[in-house]
Amino acid sequence: MITVRFAPSPTGLLHVGNARIALANCLFARRHGGRFILRIDDTDPERSKDEYAEAIARDLRWLGLAWDDSFRQRDRLDHYASVAERLKQSGRLYPCFESEEELRAKREQRLKRGLAPVYDRGMLKLTPEQRAQAEANGKRPYWRFRLSDTVMEWQDMVLGRRQVKLGTVSDPVLIRGDGTPLYTFTSVADDIETGITHVIRGEDHITNTGVQMDIFAALGADPAALRFAHLPLLTDTDGGKLSKRIDSLTLRTLRHDGVEPSAITAYLASLGTSDDPQALPIAELATRFDLTHVSHSAARFDISQLLALNRRVLHGLAFAAVADRLPQGATEAFWLAVRGNLDLLSEARGWWDVVAGTIVPPPMEGERDFLRQAVATLPSEPWNGEVWRVWTDALKQATGRKGRALFMPLRLALTGEDHGPELRELLPLIGRARAEQRLHLAAN
Ligand code: GLU
Repeated sequence: MITVRFAPSPTGLLHVGNARIALANCLFARRHGGRFILRIDDTDPERSKDEYAEAIARDLRWLGLAWDDSFRQRDRLDHYASVAERLKQSGRLYPCFESEEELRAKREQRLKRGLAPVYDRGMLKLTPEQRAQAEANGKRPYWRFRLSDTVMEWQDMVLGRRQVKLGTVSDPVLIRGDGTPLYTFTSVADDIETGITHVIRGEDHITNTGVQMDIFAALGADPAALRFAHLPLLTDTDGGKLSKRIDSLTLRTLRHDGVEPSAITAYLASLGTSDDPQALPIAELATRFDLTHVSHSAARFDISQLLALNRRVLHGLAFAAVADRLPQGATEAFWLAVRGNLDLLSEARGWWDVVAGTIVPPPMEGERDFLRQAVATLPSEPWNGEVWRVWTDALKQATGRKGRALFMPLRLALTGEDHGPELRELLPLIGRARAEQRLHLAAN
């Protein structure tokens, strides 16, 4: 059975870059009738935070990405320790004592001699006596994995043929001095045990893939049985790193701004492909999603395209789909009047103030007489859907004005804005008392 996982490290909020990876995994699983696992990679005690793990789960749920199973690596530390023990027994994990400064000095030396700055495996020569001595001095070892001297190759589902020459990579540290395991290792242990068939992640993990294939083999699994798909990274519209603006591109911010989850999933699923983004439920999006459509080159994330898509989605949403996110008291008539003018749902609040709250119209000295006539011709209640036409016909008669000269002062006085939803629809919602008061205010 096809099984994939999204494996965030809970060191920050979910942003569009990692949401895209989560989405790709979920869509792939749904398309192939497989399983989608949420795994929280929280073995780094300093950087991992429970709040982030909870926030990530919440954001994924909000996006509509439901997982079939979920677990946290922190709950499996004993297990990782026993798997690591096997690697120690087979001599693939070896203890190291060098400090950061020593390693830095070694790197500089190698660079001076024209050698690649990879770890020189000095600690492989450590004798049991030397190790005992170091430990007697109060040092605790951290553990490196001895990489094979080989080239790891795979057929990437997105990037095509790829390889990593392990000879150019330093033996990775898999266990820290405090005994906590690093994700490079725990990820492999879990991928084997949870029966992961496809690893779909960002292109920044290419080197990890070469290293992890070697760890797979060292643990007795067949790395060739696993398929990899690396999605090229997202850039901003200038081709620069998206990470500079990542704070404004967290799912939390987008949610608070009122961006619709279906606009986000549609946009993220289409990134890097020539497919048209379509705001569809996840199940339907999944039937169209094809990793082989994703281009090899970096994909540009353009917030204005996301907002344009969001606008299209909002304009088609029924009242029932938004009612609980609209300001208290907002009616269906209000929603139908304003939805065509929104980029973001949060802007509905401003229009609700126009309709039901207080706004301050700009001073309009030059329009005093006109506005007074507007008050005088304002029909008496009850009003119906025709009130705008009846009123402006009367005002046209009385003043000889038409077009913009007729409508713009009314719009400014009634809404405080020079653009917005149709006044034909807004006026009945604003009601006579408010309309009259605003016209008076603007005229004085
Ligand atoms: N925790 C790793 C990360 O967030 C997981 C990468 C992977 O999918 O293997 O980068």
